[in-house]
Amino acid sequence: MTRFDTIVMVDWSGGADRGPTPVKDAIWAGVNRGGVADAPVYLRNRQVAEAWLSDLFEVERAAGRRVLVGFDFPFGYPRGFCEALTGQTDPLVLWEWFAARIEDSAATNNRFDLAGEVNRTLGAGQGPFWANGLARDIEGLPRRKDSYANPFPERRKAEEQAKGAFTCWQMAGAGAVGSQVFMGLPVLARLRQKHDVAVWPFQPLEAPIAFVEVWPSLTVRGGPPEGMIKDAWQVAEVARQIAALAPETLQGILDVAAPEEGWIFGLGHEATVMGSLAPPLKNDCFALPAVVHWTPVAEALALLEQRLTPVVSVHDVPLRDALGRICAADVKARRANPPLPNTAVDGYGFAGGRGAGAHALPLAQGRAAAGDAPGALPAGQALRVLTGAALPAGVDTVILQEDVHLAEGKVHFNGPIKAGANTRKAGEDVTAGQVICSAGTCVSAPHLALLAATGAGHVPVFAPLKVGVLSTGDELVEAGASAAEGQIFDANRPMLLSLVAQFGHVPVDLGRSADDRAILRGRLDKAAQDVDVILTSGGASAGDEDHVSALLSEAGVMTLWRIAIKPGRPLALGLWDGVPVFGLPGNPVAAMVCTLIFARPAMSLLAGAGWCAPQGFEVPAGFSKAKKAGRREYLRARIREGKAEVFASEGSGRISGLSWAEGLLELEEPARNIVPGDMVRYIPYGSFGI
Ligand code: AMP
Ligand code: MG
Repeated sequence: MTRFDTIVMVDWSGGADRGPTPVKDAIWAGVNRGGVADAPVYLRNRQVAEAWLSDLFEVERAAGRRVLVGFDFPFGYPRGFCEALTGQTDPLVLWEWFAARIEDSAATNNRFDLAGEVNRTLGAGQGPFWANGLARDIEGLPRRKDSYANPFPERRKAEEQAKGAFTCWQMAGAGAVGSQVFMGLPVLARLRQKHDVAVWPFQPLEAPIAFVEVWPSLTVRGGPPEGMIKDAWQVAEVARQIAALAPETLQGILDVAAPEEGWIFGLGHEATVMGSLAPPLKNDCFALPAVVHWTPVAEALALLEQRLTPVVSVHDVPLRDALGRICAADVKARRANPPLPNTAVDGYGFAGGRGAGAHALPLAQGRAAAGDAPGALPAGQALRVLTGAALPAGVDTVILQEDVHLAEGKVHFNGPIKAGANTRKAGEDVTAGQVICSAGTCVSAPHLALLAATGAGHVPVFAPLKVGVLSTGDELVEAGASAAEGQIFDANRPMLLSLVAQFGHVPVDLGRSADDRAILRGRLDKAAQDVDVILTSGGASAGDEDHVSALLSEAGVMTLWRIAIKPGRPLALGLWDGVPVFGLPGNPVAAMVCTLIFARPAMSLLAGAGWCAPQGFEVPAGFSKAKKAGRREYLRARIREGKAEVFASEGSGRISGLSWAEGLLELEEPARNIVPGDMVRYIPYGSFGI
């Protein structure tokens, strides 16, 4: 089975950047180990990149990890070229051919001269290579294609299939890859000599290191987060995509026969590579088992929990942008905290403990402060140390400065003091490699402290979940507008948009729609392009004017969830163009309760944060109620003097009760005769994140 522990993606460059400021045309590398990404690495030129890769291979191999390395330039040329040039059909011989002839330094290289030389030998000086990036003319290398002639095919088979890929014959100009091949293959040839490498698809991938050809544009869509260099983002994205592939899926993608020309990784498997982290929801994810009765709340929740998966993509963000985002993969500490043993106080350090009685140690020259490299202290002496300083060799114990006096070049103090006193051990807080932020965690300020302390600069996070909110009903008018008699102000939209924001998602206002199927259809079509989830209110039942449910059933993508809940009428749940739709009741009280109870945990799963059940607790009732058997009931409630009060009316039209309340009382399905003092379960609004 093809299993790789470390995925490295390299965006190569034919140019030469001097550094030190990262630029977009430099070489960028993205490293991902089991879904955990390093920050993209800026490699300012090929010499730096070659050394970096070589070191990386040593480290990964020493750790016993198998490495898959992708480079974004062709590993072979169109058929016939290799043999014409080297007399052999093995493309790896061509790699050696280039390695033997290319001269490359940070200042200059001979790639255009070599292209001219090949053209003079194989193509009468008219091709196959063309375009000259230099001011001086080169014999045999046409600048333009007007006098161009190519004895070989223009494209490899892979390039015929990969729309928009450049040919390897073009040596200069925006997007050209010709120079990258000339300048890349010699580096790969040398790395191959030095390390145990197999080259895909020319060799079986049995060696611990595999080189594959990649083309980031094939599977990375969209653009980088603001302020991030595109190439840096792309390599990280491709590495993430490949790291997320199951071994058997990866094996399938690597199973390619392209002996001479090579192939582009993932070509023909784009959706698999792209979708590897967010598989689409299944069409039947909202199907309910055929039941005669109303479905109990717990069963409905269990179904949602089983069927829904994250629908949002993943990217790395710098720590400063990570607050409130959902961590997409377990992040491990790069470094221990503390990284070295250090002193917890200002004082004097020495070796070993001391028994009871008076002690005097000669005070050594100098001091150790936080940030100093740890030095060494001769035995029997003491050294001035300041809080946070790494302990020098020969120091394992520190005495507080308040507990000593200095006289005649000596530190005087009274024992006993235990060996190790007032010091912190390396890794006593966190060891390197320990998971410090697990997938699904909402990143908080304390998480940011821990991530920073252990060396992370970036965190993999899910893209925020975009939630569209649409109100339906002919009777609705915009809040604040003038309303004719019989019209109703749209109260659900402001409420739902705000709830969505408080849950940590991105609310998208989809406005109001009349009770008209064509209009509604248009709104859903448009919304499905723009958002990840749609919340509608109104028209969700099975009446004449219930167009949300009618439309979704017409499209065959809906189930009417008849749930045994009060307040609440049926919920219309379905997928519209693959986007989940929660058709909530129109009634604001029912709309809010159904959002808190069903939509909130479901959206949490869709957003990558996992299922979230609200925390409630038992409190004595301050009221009487005879509850009927059958439905689970949610009452608007609050706590006063240690007892739960409920709103005067249970009417589901009583919007004022929602804001009077500070939480909900949850009464289970069975009948119950509640009298003051009975224990009832109260869920404060805060437990719903609002
Ligand atoms: P429906 O579910 O469409 O039958 O609506 C049930 C009740 O809720 C009706 O009285 C509607 O007028 C009312 N309603 C529907 N949508 C809203 C809304 N956005 N704001 C306030 N009331 C609404
Ligand atoms: Mg309606």
